[in-house]
Amino acid sequence: MPKVDQDKCIGCGVCVAVCEKCFKMEENGKAIALCDGSDCNCDCNLDEVISTCPVDAISK
Ligand code: SF4
Repeated sequence: MPKVDQDKCIGCGVCVAVCEKCFKMEENGKAIALCDGSDCNCDCNLDEVISTCPVDAISK
């Protein structure tokens, strides 16, 4: 399951823009991961999202 490091995330919103089923912006301006990798039927490529994050805040 992907995780967003809350200390690293700068709230740019790129991950949510790539896949709003797997990522969501919280009220505090940081992203959280929603996808558990098992029943997610979205089309995004998690590795691609991970490499798109400018501060490497996403891990799996
Ligand atoms: S792409 Fe990275 S820095 Fe931007 S909101 Fe997502 S986790 Fe945070």
